[in-house]
Amino acid sequence: MSPTTPDQSTTSEAEQRVLRTVRGDVREIAAYEVYAQAGAIKLDAMESPYGLPQDVRDQVATAVREVEFNRYPDSAPAALVAQVRRAFGVPAEAGLLFGNGSDELIGMIVQATCAPGDVVLTPWPSFVFFELAARFHHARFVPVPLREDLQLDLEATLAAIAAHRPKVVFLAMPNNPTGGLWPREAVRAILAAAPGLVIVDEAYQAFTDETWMPQAAHAPNLGVLRTLSKIGLAGLRFGYLAAHPAWIRELNKVRPPYNIDSVTLAALAVVLANKPALDEQAARVRAARPALAAALGAMPGTTVFESAGNFLLARFARGGDAVFQALKARNILVRNFSGAHPLLANCLRISIGSPDENAALLAALNEILIA
Ligand SMILES: *Cc1c(COP(=O)(O)O)cnc(C)c1O
Repeated sequence: MSPTTPDQSTTSEAEQRVLRTVRGDVREIAAYEVYAQAGAIKLDAMESPYGLPQDVRDQVATAVREVEFNRYPDSAPAALVAQVRRAFGVPAEAGLLFGNGSDELIGMIVQATCAPGDVVLTPWPSFVFFELAARFHHARFVPVPLREDLQLDLEATLAAIAAHRPKVVFLAMPNNPTGGLWPREAVRAILAAAPGLVIVDEAYQAFTDETWMPQAAHAPNLGVLRTLSKIGLAGLRFGYLAAHPAWIRELNKVRPPYNIDSVTLAALAVVLANKPALDEQAARVRAARPALAAALGAMPGTTVFESAGNFLLARFARGGDAVFQALKARNILVRNFSGAHPLLANCLRISIGSPDENAALLAALNEILIA
């Protein structure tokens, strides 16, 4: 959005006031960017390659027509809470909190737990929003480096927990962007050692059998976070947190009123009634993973890390930036992590697409790396 330019004196006065008024750490960071390239094959954001089936779209349209747009929404209606519990196996004893995307819940978790200077700890590299949420809420962010093989360094994690006494530990499982799952014994050890809340972020749970959901409410300091974004509903903005009701009661206090809007609520009820269609799409993506990983791994100078998500992290001896640009020039967008962290040198994160998209990716890489 570029407005027409205001006059010069207003601009310089505004810039000076921004400098005096906006937090220095906010001025220093870049806004979260969404890359758009017309007609590109989009393998950069772990979106589902599949759209909602037409009959489900029609049902959504009918439901949205009935929305009372003049009324504030009930952002956690009992019927929808029950539907989410059934659809995703949330234990009856667990409390549930809805968020406008799981990003909103991550922010609420830090906001409700951390006074300025309190610690948010996470294995690193991991999901960038853990760091942003910590910084926005004046918490101290303690990243614990993964091992060279991008697996969890449990010893270092436990030592950091003992040293920093974090209010919150975030464990993305599968981890974004590396794709790994942390062993159950490791998570158990972290739960036992952590003095505060441990959030297992299962954004990619649909692509693995592993889950901590049955333990939500049975461990005193476990929260299980999920989102619908990676299973075909990134445009809807809906996430949920399951934890012992004692946690949910407090976290709910910092929830922005009416955080889930009426259109989302209406669409969600329809989509969840058609959950087998989403499951089937996720299963197709998951089924494509081994062959794509093998084909990528067979390319010269390419290392693929084992992934339990709907994406693969690959390291290119040819150079991550070079391969990223060459793919982009062929209208294929992936995510470049080359410069993000030393452990991710020359790494690109590639979402698993439709069979056609995956074939186009491999053909392009074949040109770039071999021909
Ligand atoms: C994508 C992602 C999210 C964000 O999900 P939204 O619901 O779209 O906000 C949360 N956690 C992890 C680990 C992710 O990769």
